[in-house]
Amino acid sequence: MNRRSFVHHSAILTGLSLLPGQKALLKSLFPDEGNMTILRDNVGIYTERGGTIGWMIEGDSVVVVDTQFPDQARNLISQIKQRGGKSVDLLINTHHHGDHSGGNIAFQGMADRIVAHTNSKKNQEVSAKSRGNEESQLYPTELYDTEWSDQIGSETITLRYFGAAHTDGDSLIHFENANIVHMGDLLFNRRFPFIDKSAGASIRNWIDVLQQAQRTFDKDTLYIFGHSGAGYPVTGNKDDLQAMQNYLRSLLKYVKKQMKKGLSVEEITKITDQIPGAPEWTGRGVGRSISAAFEELSEQ
Ligand SMILES: [Zn+2]
Repeated sequence: MNRRSFVHHSAILTGLSLLPGQKALLKSLFPDEGNMTILRDNVGIYTERGGTIGWMIEGDSVVVVDTQFPDQARNLISQIKQRGGKSVDLLINTHHHGDHSGGNIAFQGMADRIVAHTNSKKNQEVSAKSRGNEESQLYPTELYDTEWSDQIGSETITLRYFGAAHTDGDSLIHFENANIVHMGDLLFNRRFPFIDKSAGASIRNWIDVLQQAQRTFDKDTLYIFGHSGAGYPVTGNKDDLQAMQNYLRSLLKYVKKQMKKGLSVEEITKITDQIPGAPEWTGRGVGRSISAAFEELSEQ
């Protein structure tokens, strides 16, 4: 049922006017905009369309991680202003993909500092040039290679790079006091991931990056995920990191086995709905996983 027919049905049920409870239900089912949700301390998430956005608002201090697309970023900015935020002290991109950095442009004049990994900016430039949409990009102003840290308000924010994984420029962003880590697209929670070989992705190294994350953070760390499958949350704990590692290991093992039988990428994709050993990963795009694994295993 879409929003309009839901309103129509509800209006009939209530004699053409919505009760407050129904209005709240309607808003939760069909939000015009996304919702800012607190996770812990002053740190939360914003979800609308695209990769999950992380944010921190502490008095006048505002930090935003990723920006979805321009319309979604504008909705978030208006909600930040409603909460008293006037400008963004620090904008961070977990990586360059358009559903994470496309909304940067909406922060023009609102955020002077944009931080990302060196390769994230490089990939953003290459991608924008090939798509011919350079004028709608707002690029990072500060780059780093292995680790970057700064204090905003009373919170210490540390970016780490553990090597190529989903792309060759994925940052893990740690809000140290709140003990929340934004994983960007290093974690697709029970949903077939995009593995961007054209931007230097490595499945084998991705498994190791998830191991390094578990070594670096602790059992109380709360993680934010770029995307999730239907019915799964965009936040979680180290068990979800292990499950993602298991998906990637299972993917390599499965594709290797099919390649030994002499099957092509197309043939493997055609016979595959799920990856044996990781059946909870679903959605569209199993073929993207298979082609990336095929390419990586062919390089040996
Ligand atoms: Zn991505």
